[in-house]
Amino acid sequence: MKKRILLLAGGQSGEHEVSLMSARSVLAALPRDQFDVTPVVISKQGRWLPPTDTVRALETGVSAPGGDLVLHRAASAEGYDAVFPLLHGPMGEDGTIQGLLTLAGIPFVGSGVLGSAASMDKVMTKQVLASAGIPQVAWRLAVRREWAQNPDAVRARAHDLGFPLFVKPANLGSSVGISKVHGPDELDAALTLAFSLDRRVILEAMTAHKPREVEVGILGNDAPIASPVGELSFAAEFYDYATKYTEGQATMHIPAPLPAEVAARVRELALQAFLALDCAGLARVDFFYVEETGELFLNEVNTMPGFTTTSMYPKLFGAAGLSYSELVTRLVELALERR
Ligand code: ATP
Ligand code: MG
Ligand code: MG
Ligand code: MG
Repeated sequence: MKKRILLLAGGQSGEHEVSLMSARSVLAALPRDQFDVTPVVISKQGRWLPPTDTVRALETGVSAPGGDLVLHRAASAEGYDAVFPLLHGPMGEDGTIQGLLTLAGIPFVGSGVLGSAASMDKVMTKQVLASAGIPQVAWRLAVRREWAQNPDAVRARAHDLGFPLFVKPANLGSSVGISKVHGPDELDAALTLAFSLDRRVILEAMTAHKPREVEVGILGNDAPIASPVGELSFAAEFYDYATKYTEGQATMHIPAPLPAEVAARVRELALQAFLALDCAGLARVDFFYVEETGELFLNEVNTMPGFTTTSMYPKLFGAAGLSYSELVTRLVELALERR
């Protein structure tokens, strides 16, 4: 019997379009002799689009308004063997949809409520990983209410860390809302932008030298495996949205040209982080490597990383000998095994 899969894409976050791109690739790759796949695009307003609007959204990359309320459709998801929530950012990668599916009793690809929520929030991730002894850059939390009522306290936290620093919404991805702040004069604009997107904002120190950016894929549930390590290089000052999604702006190097012991440590730290955060299925773990000092810092854990055929995560497992369609098949198996 073919497995019935509900593939969710789009969603309410700033990464809606990225999700549609990933979903097109997954839809084409799930082997039809094993799976019967129904895509449903969730609009930016959070409504689940009917089939014709879903197909149009996947084809054009633009989602129409309309559709059903999420809770209404969740009940009809009951006939599915598994859900593939190929959603990034808030209301997709953060435990909310995972909670709904858990309540509905439907297996799904990727981390559960805890792993998703703890990995989505960059502050919570840092706290959990600090207690697991994983090296990270210095950071501070600020909340919106404070920024409105006592901005000097927030500014003081930035000055503690020193410039340049990074300001980020705590719960987002694709570099949406992230600024590199070179000095005090750029700080307020960066904070205002980040607070327009999230109630919680993280301030992060930079390493002394421009770090190299290395990423590793993790696959599995309680006995996960790590992919080879990949590296990104780009001309931009940091890996911002345009650099991520404009053809030709960034280059992937797989395997990363790293000393063997550094690559081994990246893989080991990523596995530790995956387990510490209670992740499941898959994650892409991003690091900074400071060549001058040999230091490694874990930057973040993405529980639903970019998933087009040319995205880093599938490429990393491709280098390990797993084709894209074998990879998505494995992810569905892991979802079913986890019940
Ligand atoms: P993703 O699309 O991988 O989910 P994201 O939106 O969650 O990304 P981060 O990975 O935290 O964002 O940061 C985006 C980029 O900003 C990094 O890849 C890096 O280029 C730069 N960056 C972020 N934090 C720092 C830091 N503390 N020091 C140096 N560079 C940083
Ligand atoms: Mg991220
Ligand atoms: Mg992400
Ligand atoms: Mg990242």
